[in-house]
Parts: sequence; C-alpha cells; structure tokens
Amino acid sequence: MSTTPGNAVTMEKILSLCKRRGFLFQSSEIYGGLNATWDYGPLGAELKRNVKEAWWRSTVQSRDDVVGLDSAILMHPNVWKASGHLDSFSDPLVECQSCRQRFREDDLESRKCPNCGGGLSEPRQFNLMFKTFMGAVEDTASEVYLRPETAQGIYVNFQNVVNSARRKLPFGIGQIGKAFRNEITPGNSIFRTREFEQMELEFFVKPGADAEWLDYWVEERMNWFVSHGVHRENLRLRRHGQDELAHYAKTVYDIEYRFPWGWAELEGIANRSDFDLRQHAGHSGRDLTYFDDETRQRYHPYVIETSVGVDRAALAFLIDAYQEEAVAPSKPGGASETRTVLRMDRRLAPVTVAVLPLSRNQRLTPTAKEVHALLRQRFNALYDDAQSIGRRYRRQDEIGAPYCVTVDFDTLDDRAVTLRDRDTMLQLRLPISRLPEVVEDKLRHGW
Ligand code: ATP
Repeated sequence: MSTTPGNAVTMEKILSLCKRRGFLFQSSEIYGGLNATWDYGPLGAELKRNVKEAWWRSTVQSRDDVVGLDSAILMHPNVWKASGHLDSFSDPLVECQSCRQRFREDDLESRKCPNCGGGLSEPRQFNLMFKTFMGAVEDTASEVYLRPETAQGIYVNFQNVVNSARRKLPFGIGQIGKAFRNEITPGNSIFRTREFEQMELEFFVKPGADAEWLDYWVEERMNWFVSHGVHRENLRLRRHGQDELAHYAKTVYDIEYRFPWGWAELEGIANRSDFDLRQHAGHSGRDLTYFDDETRQRYHPYVIETSVGVDRAALAFLIDAYQEEAVAPSKPGGASETRTVLRMDRRLAPVTVAVLPLSRNQRLTPTAKEVHALLRQRFNALYDDAQSIGRRYRRQDEIGAPYCVTVDFDTLDDRAVTLRDRDTMLQLRLPISRLPEVVEDKLRHGW
C-alpha cells in the first residue's frame, strides 16, 4: 500500500485485482460458493508458494539452530485434551433473537445485533475445533479433530527430533501446514477463514533464557517483514495485557499490520513457558524433559513461539505492494494514464520474468520461445504475446512481475533483447546469452 495519504488502497481494489488476474477465487463458486473459503488461482498459488519458501528459507534452512517438520493434520484426541483446546479453545458466541445471525461477543461494541438491532442471547462458549470421524464407524470413540494450529505436532515430536537430529538447546522446530478453526465471524477475504495455513516456529530454550529469546524473535520477525518489502510504518508491535493472555502464555506480542480496515494481527509471538511440554508429558506419561550436558540437569525447556498465517501474510504483502501512479501518455498528446503496479519483493512476485515478443509475428516467435525456454530453466518465466506491447507491460506491472524481456526485430540480427525493470521502468539491452545471469544478479541486488 502506498503510504501517501489519498493513495491508500481499498479492499475492493485488491479483491478486484485478485479475481481479475487469478490470485483468488471464491471456493465452489459454480455452486454459489462456500462462505469464507477461498481458492488460490494460478498467480495466487505462486505467491503463496513464494511466501512459504521465503519463510522456510530464512527461518529453517538458513539457520544452524532450526530444523523442519511436517506433522499430520489428524492427531490423537488426547493431544487436544492436553493442550487445553478441548476445554478452552472457544469464543463467546451470541445469537440475535430476531434475525438469528451469530456473532463473537468480544467483537461487538454493544448488546444490540449489528445487523438488525435486535436483542442478543446470553453468550455461550463455542469451541472452534472442527470435529470429524476416523474410520467407518461414526461414534464418539472415533471422533477426531482437524488441528486448529500446527504447533501441537511439534511438541509431541519434541523427543523424536532431539534424538534423531541430535539437537542441543537452544534450538527450534519450524513447520508449515494447514489449520482449521470454525470461526464464528470469518471475513475480510483471506484475513480470517476457517481453513488456512500457518508457518510456526517453536524455539526451545533453557528456562531463564526465555525473556531474551522472546525479544530476539520479536525483532527477527519484524525484520523479516521489512526485509521482504513491507513498509515499516505499516507494522507495529502490540504487547498483550495481562487480562488477554491465553492460558498457556507468559508474554505475548502481536505484530500488527495496517490493513485497509485498520490495524489487525498479522503474527503472534509468545513465550509459552514450559506449559506445552509439561502438559503432554503429564497426559502421555512420557518423559519430555531435556538433559542439559552443562548443568547435568533435566528440565522441560521453555518455548518461544512465532506463528503467522500464510494467507494473512500473503494478503498483507499484496496490500503493501499495491500502488497506482500517474504515467506519461502512451500516445503523443494523449491523456495521462494510471499505472497499477504491485511493487512486491522480487522473491515473492508470482512471476519473475515475462517474455514478450514485440508482436505476434511469425519471424519473432521462434526466438521469443527460445528465450522463454532459456529463462524458465531457472525462473518462473511467463510468455505473453497477446495485445499491444504497452498493454502487456501494464499487465505484468499489475501482477508484480519484476522483469520483462522484449524480443524485437533487431534481436533476429544481433541476438540481443531488452530487459525492463518494473519499478523504475528502466531498460537495458543485452545479449540473450547473458540474460539468465543478469536476471539472477538483479534479483539478488536490485536494478
Ligand atoms: P485472532 O485473535 O485474530 O482470532 P488468534 O490470536 O487466535 O487470532 P493465533 O492463534 O495467535 O491467532 O494464530 C497465529 C496466526 O495464525 C495469526 O496471527 C494469523 O496470522 C493466523 N490465523 C489465525 N487464525 C486465522 C484464521 N482464522 N484465518 C487466517 N489466519 C489465521
């Protein structure tokens, strides 16, 4: 989002772009849609993959002290008993006595229905976990839950990872995966849905070192967003008050983003103390302590958790990148035009480089296809030869492709092409043979 007042993006604009260009579609649209569930189209799928890849690279692969995990969505029901989710993962639900709409009581400003002004029922605790049945018999013995967070898969594998990956504290386990919450009031497109994906890190530390590591991860995660292109002034940190702390948490910070409707949580970072490991040790009867070589002591490590939604992060990246700017008319004497451009971090952009022959001329096509084949070996490269070159540049700007390569009639003689930068619109002429290395270099270091 441009931070210039007056140029703030609206959700209508973002959603219209997302639908038009194939980032997001309503789920089961041909059947009238399923409330608050979304499908990622061709560009959305690429964006989401890139967001996950960027998180995994910086949080897991590029660190010595973090390993990855991919645990199952379905887990033993006792996991949710131990974690506290069965008893207290609920929101207060109220129902309007006139129109029967349901709301989260803590979202409401008054005791009147925001829809029709009717009276509301007394709140009742509504558990947010989705229940299903495992196997052929649908009875209480076969009830299982779709996980409402990925973190529990990490705790129950703590000992497996320590033993197999020979880890010493402090170390973390990162995981990306689907989570499900039967939210009472989903909304704002992919901001709050009932099915979503999380990127979570559980970082295990020695008790006593927890406060320091919490500060470290708060800063690290804030920097991650900034280093992936989010404007610093659109991010802020909010510390939870004592009264809003979850049952497991010692200290919690939210990284909030300035969404078009206001500040809202983007990521949660929590000091969960030794709550989770203790709970699972108690309920499973297994020893989940860690043996500290230095102090010759056994203890349950403390855990610092960082938890962010892939979908929510993708939405923030889209909003933050969206800009509309006035550009010179494409025809002499014409009216000035507006360029919509996603100034998205080059690593997150759904398309890295677009190959655009000057026109759909038979003589240009073989060389343009050859350039495309060369680039797609290393990058997500797209080929587009429909409509005028000006319109195709605009189309690529709108989806955030950082680079366009134009193949023209001179190319047939000199084997050189034009590389254009999305942000500056600067152009560079270079031999086809050098394209992959130059694109690679610009991706790393900028134009
Ligand atoms: P909220 O108060 O907004 O319901 P929460 O505090 O329950 O969120 P956490 O349990 O801290 O959320 O979840 C960690 C992260 O997972 C959130 O910061 C968010 O990015 C993501 N997330 C949580 N719930 C949803 C959801 N329903 N849809 C999309 N992303 C979600």
